[in-house]
Amino acid sequence: LEKTSVAAPPESQNFHWHGFTQMADFQNIVIDHAEGCWLTTTSGQRLFDGVASLWCNVHGHRHPKMDDAIRTQLDRVSHITTLGMSADITERLAERLAEVTPGDLKHVFFSSDGSSAVEAALKMALQYWHLKHSTTTPASEPSSTTSSTSTSKTRYLALSSAYHGDTTGAVSLGGIKYFHQLFAPIVFTPVRGPLPCSYRLPDGVRCDDACDFYAGKIESLLKQHHTELAAVVMEPLVQGAAGMITHPPGLLARVRELCDQCDVLLIVDEVATGFGRTGRMFACDHEGVTPDILCMGKGITGGYLPMAATIARPHVFEAFLGKSSERKQFYHGHTFGGNPLAAAAAMASLDLFRETNLTATIDAKSRFLRGCLAPLADHPHVGDVRGRGLMVGIELVADRESKTPFDSDQLIGRKVCERATELGVWIRPLGDVIVLMPPLVASDDELRFLAKTVTQAIEEVL
Ligand code: PLP
Repeated sequence: LEKTSVAAPPESQNFHWHGFTQMADFQNIVIDHAEGCWLTTTSGQRLFDGVASLWCNVHGHRHPKMDDAIRTQLDRVSHITTLGMSADITERLAERLAEVTPGDLKHVFFSSDGSSAVEAALKMALQYWHLKHSTTTPASEPSSTTSSTSTSKTRYLALSSAYHGDTTGAVSLGGIKYFHQLFAPIVFTPVRGPLPCSYRLPDGVRCDDACDFYAGKIESLLKQHHTELAAVVMEPLVQGAAGMITHPPGLLARVRELCDQCDVLLIVDEVATGFGRTGRMFACDHEGVTPDILCMGKGITGGYLPMAATIARPHVFEAFLGKSSERKQFYHGHTFGGNPLAAAAAMASLDLFRETNLTATIDAKSRFLRGCLAPLADHPHVGDVRGRGLMVGIELVADRESKTPFDSDQLIGRKVCERATELGVWIRPLGDVIVLMPPLVASDDELRFLAKTVTQAIEEVL
């Protein structure tokens, strides 16, 4: 690996507390700079960015067009509020997002991270039903008369092992035990749907019947709870943090139909899947689905600056319209939502998508990467290689036949990723699922290097 001479950082004193990280045995990797799909540490090691800087880098690091767009905006204004005004670039971005998102999704509410985009969606859905079911409060009445909700539709249906972020509402939806059980006193309880896993199907369910089976489960929950449900919230096609769990094809479209039949909103969380990751601009595009509300984040700015958004269809937005005295406005707003620098990055990223026709290249790249990973198919501890587009999970198991997981204390996934890092690829596991989420511009040579290195790391550890 090419080395460059960069001064080593001082011994860590844990001034920086890292998320989801046991700080007592943490070996930090400090990045000095990056270019394309490669990171260079302060000690000079070059690492391939195998998880696209936590699933968000699209066009590679330091892309000249991305950097220029941010610099140009810096010369105009770096931040102003969106409460009562906004930057020209933010206005233009909202319109572009309406163009690239599915169907008639149109009205963009900006925030700064994926979790906040989900929070906004939850509150939007709840206030939507409140507004639909309440009679207008006359201006003469005190505002306190409108403060409690007038609808019974105040709950959400979320899938098992769901992950929608780390803020309180998002954690409430979450179904990953360690992420939410501790926080039970401050979270709400959703109606819990199934985990529509294609790899571990329940006894007696064949692959071809999986969509019907899981749709049936969701249908019975919707029939039972629709009067109290504001929305179904789901990650489309692939549940990322659950371990790249792939849903049976067609499930998303079935859930859309069921939501329509039961008069429940559909909120789709495309924070991880959005912006080309699965081979379409949005995962919903694979199944021709337009949710009522769609959440996006991560890749929105090409992975350059924090930004997220919640986009709603006209019928949702229009429920919030009225006279000021009716107090129908959306009671939510973020200081940095729609930040102009981030908006400039997002516009440049969308320009690059258009100029390079990037989304159309993903299916071929995905096939190429899967081809490079093919030798793993015979490995006795590789249970499944799955995902969509450039969103890939390799599940390592103790026993391939019975699909029995390793004992979690063995930290197999972590050991494989640590070895891959020594070999020049930065990846981060989800338990014993090895996640490959390279920047979408990764070349065939880079994808081959990624696959070869990860295969070697798995073979050396197992
Ligand atoms: N939703 C999904 C599907 C995600 O994968 C994530 C993050 O991984 C989030 C929401 C939360 O996004 P953020 O970390 O930007 O808050």
